[in-house]
Amino acid sequence: MSASLACIGGTAAYDLLRDGALVADRLGPQHTPFGDSQPIYLCKSRFGQQFLFLSRHGETGYDLAPSFVNYRANLYALKDLGVRSVISWSETKALCHNYKVGEYVIVHDLVDETHQRAHTFFENQGLGAVRQWPVFCPSLRRALATTLGEERCAFSDHGVYVCVEGPRRETPAEARKYAMCGGELLGMTLAPEAFLARELQLCYSSICYVAHYAETGSDYTPFEGGRVLEEAITAQRARTAVERLPRILERLGHVVSDTPSLCHCETSMQQYIDSGQLAWDWRTWFEDQPSERDIGTALP
Ligand SMILES: [Zn+2]
Repeated sequence: MSASLACIGGTAAYDLLRDGALVADRLGPQHTPFGDSQPIYLCKSRFGQQFLFLSRHGETGYDLAPSFVNYRANLYALKDLGVRSVISWSETKALCHNYKVGEYVIVHDLVDETHQRAHTFFENQGLGAVRQWPVFCPSLRRALATTLGEERCAFSDHGVYVCVEGPRRETPAEARKYAMCGGELLGMTLAPEAFLARELQLCYSSICYVAHYAETGSDYTPFEGGRVLEEAITAQRARTAVERLPRILERLGHVVSDTPSLCHCETSMQQYIDSGQLAWDWRTWFEDQPSERDIGTALP
């Protein structure tokens, strides 16, 4: 097995797996020092490349809300299988009308409003003060833009994503606050995933699709071409965005293999390696991590 690219699929990814839209070999969940990952699939593209796929919320349905996804196990497992680049696919709601429903967005910045997730691999180790600009890998963002252009998909190459805890929806006042602070898209999954990927020195970028508009309390109804945008049209566009994903991933694998790497993601923890706090072999970084079994037996 050889795949240096992986995709972590978001909402409706399980539909692709369940319905067979994504043809793949099931490798299953992987054991990691941080618990078991979601089941991982090995996919082969029409261009000959292989990539790994993991459905963040479950295999057959929306089994796990974003607060309860084991982001650390998922990323550790992908890295352990030889992955170097991770594409995250996320559903979003637009906080403004600069984006159209069904449009893809290659986000460039991130506001983390989550508060009950494991945000680092390095608990109680004093490590992980890692620079967060650029937030997303510039090489992968460029490859995504090339891919979406070649697939003739409508997309925007920038967007500020606000990650909220959920699972409840935003209040109108919260949506207005996020928009006033520069937020453009609202979702629940990119944090801490983006930050954890950096701690593992992975290239990480996200392709979002706009499924709806956030509820700001406004009476404004979006319209296009002089017509009110009907709910049925909105839902169909979001479905189409999901259905096109397997084809986009296949082409992306081909584009990534042809795109020279211009980023520094693979050396994001170099300062700690140079200082001797971390060894060259990344797997040794977590050898003292208590396993879930140890944690369980330590409880009274
Ligand atoms: Zn990178």
